[in-house]
Amino acid sequence: KKKIAIMTSGGDSPGMNGVVRACVRMAIHLGCDAFCVYEGYEGLVRGGDHIRKMEWHDVRGWLSEGGTLIGTARCMEFYERPGRVKAAKNMVLNGIDALIICGGDGSLTGADRFRAEWPSLLKELVETKELTADEIAPYAHLNIVGLVGSIDNDLSGTDATIGCYSALARICEMVDYIEATASSHSRAFVIEVMGRHCGWLALMAGVATGADFIFIPEKPREDNWREEMCAVIQRHRTLGKRKTIVIVAEGAHDRYGNHISPEMIHKLLADKDGLALDTRITTLGHVQRGGTAVAYDRMLSTLQGVEAVRAVIEATPETETCVIAITENKIVRKPLMEAVLATKSVAKAIEAHDFDLAMSLRDTEFSD
Ligand code: ADP
Repeated sequence: KKKIAIMTSGGDSPGMNGVVRACVRMAIHLGCDAFCVYEGYEGLVRGGDHIRKMEWHDVRGWLSEGGTLIGTARCMEFYERPGRVKAAKNMVLNGIDALIICGGDGSLTGADRFRAEWPSLLKELVETKELTADEIAPYAHLNIVGLVGSIDNDLSGTDATIGCYSALARICEMVDYIEATASSHSRAFVIEVMGRHCGWLALMAGVATGADFIFIPEKPREDNWREEMCAVIQRHRTLGKRKTIVIVAEGAHDRYGNHISPEMIHKLLADKDGLALDTRITTLGHVQRGGTAVAYDRMLSTLQGVEAVRAVIEATPETETCVIAITENKIVRKPLMEAVLATKSVAKAIEAHDFDLAMSLRDTEFSD
């Protein structure tokens, strides 16, 4: 009987529980034993009751829950080989030879490394007499499959990561709330959203709320960004718009790499000699990660969880480690490290959409 473990790792995202539920139930459905590793790689390194067998009813009600009920952690020990040796030992002690990991690119890189090292980790365990040759014999190969859980939608090769549409929905809802006040008082709001390296959330929120101006890491601003922003906002105001919304990603910067902060934008908008707008800053912070998963993330986590279990059962020592993606509305398997490496060099937010056109559709841009 195959024993499949499921783990969530890295930053939490809505939909991770849907993944765990789908994997546990699909594994049981296919006649396997399902396990959960609690607290990410930390749980794998510590073992003991961090690794628990799961039954069908253990994941009842998990589909819509935000965050991850099996916990997640950042684990320094797993970056080092001794930590991974301990993790391998705990896998063998629990009889687990297949692992499904839902996390960001860091977690998936760690997973790929773990699988590549697996034979040598077992060898070391035998040499140091932690385990016997007989004990490791059934576990010659480790099969790993990745699922991308991230609110940032920051992995290349998949249209959406699990959690990004929940975070986007939350941001839009919050901007709607803020707009009521902005409009009533004729105010300007600078809204900071998550995204240190990837501006997908800020870009899509800008498009979805008709924001006046946005700043994202993928579009470093030119020297004249101050004049550019003020001109756009002034034009909107002249045409009768009572509210001003500027959305700024955490990682926004100019072409020299200098951070563009909400405070800098606030100063420009509020400046008595400039636009002189009554301006407030709202940092959305962790409300973006929280709350229940939207319908899309429930669907994605379930379909991808099911596919992950199939993939991990079908994997052979020869097959490359895969990640489950969605492209053009189809759930597909892709080489894991290819997707991770492509992410480092591709600005997905810009790659997929016509940034300038989408942004110029807001309100009054085309009327002059
Ligand atoms: P995310 O998965 O959201 O990108 P991190 O980059 O913090 O988050 O990774 C989560 C965990 O995955 C780390 O705390 C570490 O335990 C493990 N990990 C990340 N990168 C590696 C790596 N190169 N080698 C081994 N483990 C890694």
